[in-house]
Amino acid sequence: MTGRRNVDRRPRFAGALRGCALGAALLACGACAPEPRDGLVLITIDTLRADAVGAFGREDARTPVLDRLAREGVRAYAYAPIPLTTPSHASILSGLHPASHGVRKHGQVLSDRFETLAERLRSHGFLAGAVVSGAPLHPYFGLDQGFDAFDAQDIEGDGRRADAATDAALAVADGLLARSDTAPVFLWVHYFDPHSAYAPPPPFDQLWDEAPGPWDGSHETHNRVIYEGLPASPELLARNRNLYQGEVAYTDRAIGRLLDGLAERGLGDALVAVTADHGESFAPEYPFDHADRLYDSILRVPLIVKGGGLPPERFFEGAVPLEDIAPTLLELLGFEPPVALDGRSRAAELAGRAPVTDPPIFAESPRIPPRPERRQSGRNEGALRAVQRGDCKLVFNLDTGLERVSDLRRGADEAARPGVPPPAGRCDADALRALHAAWARAHPHALEQRASTTSPPLPVDLREQLLALGYAVE
Ligand SMILES: [Zn+2]
Repeated sequence: MTGRRNVDRRPRFAGALRGCALGAALLACGACAPEPRDGLVLITIDTLRADAVGAFGREDARTPVLDRLAREGVRAYAYAPIPLTTPSHASILSGLHPASHGVRKHGQVLSDRFETLAERLRSHGFLAGAVVSGAPLHPYFGLDQGFDAFDAQDIEGDGRRADAATDAALAVADGLLARSDTAPVFLWVHYFDPHSAYAPPPPFDQLWDEAPGPWDGSHETHNRVIYEGLPASPELLARNRNLYQGEVAYTDRAIGRLLDGLAERGLGDALVAVTADHGESFAPEYPFDHADRLYDSILRVPLIVKGGGLPPERFFEGAVPLEDIAPTLLELLGFEPPVALDGRSRAAELAGRAPVTDPPIFAESPRIPPRPERRQSGRNEGALRAVQRGDCKLVFNLDTGLERVSDLRRGADEAARPGVPPPAGRCDADALRALHAAWARAHPHALEQRASTTSPPLPVDLREQLLALGYAVE
């Protein structure tokens, strides 16, 4: 791998007291700010819909930290290649589509033969640390490749709370900074709170409901809707959507504390990227879920990138597959992005130095239901594939052959996007089919359910944790 930039090796200081004369430090250490350190902070917010963020159109979202980041950098719509936590994060970190890296269901393991963003940055002299907050990102699944430190404590059940994740991330950062006075730092922080169940701590549980109705955002309520036929009434949907927004607002506050803490540690000028592995559906026929549909509300997620020479206050109009994030961040850090990936660097486009492209999006969801009642409930429709270009989208079912062409400007679930002009003419299904056929020829496993490797048997406790979250497990 060739780096275009030599990492600055000037002596720098890892701790707040370093670089000060001892006496001065004891008297006035507050004046002894740490030297700035190069770095990358990648934040993934599980289950974050784009329209749950103020900067992406929800005026009452109460996401001031994300909104400020968006004003200071570039914001765009990113697209998940698969609405599942482990496979989608494998794509974010590897730059590969699930059809290439082979993690296509929960329970499968990312093969060591793939090079992750952490491994690439380590080869450039970075120290790498991660904090994950949900069972699907347990190190067993192989996404810990390349990290010097990988904190996966307290991720059972509904996962680690955002405040605890921030505390852990700052501790991991301290550990990395203490290892070297000069090495740049890569920190990946995963927040899990917007994932069901929706149970934000006070006051985030009542920000939008002064008089909450009887329905909470618990798994019990969701399971009554999913499996027992409880009608997803407008009141129930609204209450759960508000609780979900509360989780987003709570996470936003925790991210603010993370960024403040990192700035205090000399990482205030680090490149920062925020995105999500998938969104969430609140459609009446498929609420509180994301695993086995390819709705726009599930695949379209926010992307914010600040630093790396990017201009402030820019809305980027091209679609960004999540596979593009790793090569883009590498180039923004000054390194030659790898070419043998599904994803490609969009750095020049984001910076306004190259024309905006709008590549087709390819997405999939798996066939296996987590338990029989899920199939009986109609929740899992089978193996789906989608191709999208602009506002036109084709979704088809590998098992039934049924397909649907969507104009994303229409439909209750697939809401119009602010700031994007409507396409000219109607959606051309043949053109979308041809796009997918060409892509499938280049990805021989595109129409299969194949894993990259034969994953070892899933430990019983991890299997139970994934099932408890409602996920498909082999
Ligand atoms: Zn997820």
